[in-house]
Amino acid sequence: MVKKKKKRNLIGRWPLSVVMCEDKQIVLEHNNITYKINNDKLRLQNFRSNGWKCKGCGRKATCVKITCTGEAIHLDLYDDNNLLFTHDHIKPTSRGGANTIENSQTLCEKCNSIKSNKLYNFQEPLKIICKETGKIYSGIVVGMTSRSVTLEQILEIPN
Ligand SMILES: [Zn+2]
Repeated sequence: MVKKKKKRNLIGRWPLSVVMCEDKQIVLEHNNITYKINNDKLRLQNFRSNGWKCKGCGRKATCVKITCTGEAIHLDLYDDNNLLFTHDHIKPTSRGGANTIENSQTLCEKCNSIKSNKLYNFQEPLKIICKETGKIYSGIVVGMTSRSVTLEQILEIPN
């Protein structure tokens, strides 16, 4: 999905450790100035409920960048390598997915590009079939690259 980008003015960049999360607000302090960002937006609720981590590979966000467009304040998460974290809809809204916290997950840009527009939910077990034995297994995805998938809690599913 390509959105037309509005021009944003950078307010600041912080290590994520200085971000304090309250129920209603995210509070940032920088050069003795305090910035308060309302935490009621779905995007922030999602980042927060996912522990500021990618659901796909477990990478943790370490940096936050605050920008503004007019009155709207926007928060972006990054890791140390400047990898962007995104608010992803598990079932894409383009396929009728709801804009709710239950249908939300945090993905880094790498995992998001792997997921693309597929209906893949990183929180659901993934079923795999062993080519040699034909046995079926299920496991929880804990890591994913463009070439491999790492599973934990692998169980054999009886045929
Ligand atoms: Zn990731």
